[in-house]
Amino acid sequence: MRIKIGIGYDIHRLLEGRKLYLGGIELPFSKGLAGHSDGDCLIHAIIDALLGALGRGDIGQLFPDSDPRYRNIRSTELLESVMGLIREKKGKIHNVDCIIIAEAPVIGPHVDSMKRVLCPILYLVENDIGIKAKTNEGLGAIGRGEAIAAIVQVLIEL
Ligand code: MG
Repeated sequence: MRIKIGIGYDIHRLLEGRKLYLGGIELPFSKGLAGHSDGDCLIHAIIDALLGALGRGDIGQLFPDSDPRYRNIRSTELLESVMGLIREKKGKIHNVDCIIIAEAPVIGPHVDSMKRVLCPILYLVENDIGIKAKTNEGLGAIGRGEAIAAIVQVLIEL
């Protein structure tokens, strides 16, 4: 068995007229994340971190945005598909640590709900997934509320 680390990053624009999906849940907000899928940049960063640890490229290679099958797909479905790759190798995730960078909405009150969705998909208990949220202190595009970003690190055993 080998311990492998993976890192993932994603950023999506916030647009009027879309639902906001983040961390596998829908959050009440006036804008939503743009994207071919549901735009859930936290799950996309988790997927990229897992694929990095697996040495399997990135989310865009596995689920191309030119493929109509993935149009408006919930990112939880994409994550379940990547977990299949880990199961194939009889792998196990040890822990996942996430940072969400968003000026708004306030993420903290939704973290427990995100964990309740993500833990069963990742086969983790609540203490094995960290979800921290911070603002960008008003700086740049994220600070102006134009986008939300996520950074994720994972440790897996293969
Ligand atoms: Mg993305």
